[in-house]
Amino acid sequence: MILAMRYAFLADVHANAAALTAVLRDIERYGGVAEIMCLGDTVGYGPDPHECIELLRSSQVVAVSGNHDLAVLDKLDLGYFSPDAARAARWTTARLSASDRDYLGGLPAMLVRGEFTLVHGSPRQPAWEYLISLGSARHNFAYFNTPCCLVGHSHLPLIFKQQGVEAVSVQFATSVGLVLGNGRYIINPGSVGQPRDGDPRASYAVYDSDDRVLRLRRVPYDIAAVQERFLRAGLPLRLASRLGQGL
Ligand code: ZN
Repeated sequence: MILAMRYAFLADVHANAAALTAVLRDIERYGGVAEIMCLGDTVGYGPDPHECIELLRSSQVVAVSGNHDLAVLDKLDLGYFSPDAARAARWTTARLSASDRDYLGGLPAMLVRGEFTLVHGSPRQPAWEYLISLGSARHNFAYFNTPCCLVGHSHLPLIFKQQGVEAVSVQFATSVGLVLGNGRYIINPGSVGQPRDGDPRASYAVYDSDDRVLRLRRVPYDIAAVQERFLRAGLPLRLASRLGQGL
């Protein structure tokens, strides 16, 4: 029996182990995938950096680095962060093991896997650029060669489609599924550990290469328990409360 080639795309786990565990379980319930790809910001904000790194490692997730992953290694100036994000980054830095640091330090900024280019922010500026407007998407189609580029960073599930050379359309990803045609796409699967589209459930996407359908999945998890972990760790209150609203 030949297994359908399915791939799961994860982004912005942000040290939320409960959300990541719920997503990994959902992938199993879905029937498993050939490969899980993670688009950066595995740590930062949340209370479980080590646990999230271990979960990605044990699930053999292919990953790139995000701006928070660089910041906790002192490879990015915290002056660019909000005060809460900077505080969480310093908290994280103090708790990383040597092997956590090796893992994060070894992540590439960009990776090509088959028909997918993986980056955190954008192919033009992997650590920095937010791909949320048609204008920025239009420019970025020139910066990758594969049919699809997967991004994170904005924590918003979005799909940009290139039609012809110039025209680009955008839509929010939905669980109904989208058949990817012959065009080129920039796809954001939303955030596992800190969604910002008003839906607090963990967000990720599954792509089935047989029927070429991309589906967004939303997975509930015990948000109150994670919020308590934020507070017990002494992490900023605002970072915990926004989890409940998905903002
Ligand atoms: Zn992020």
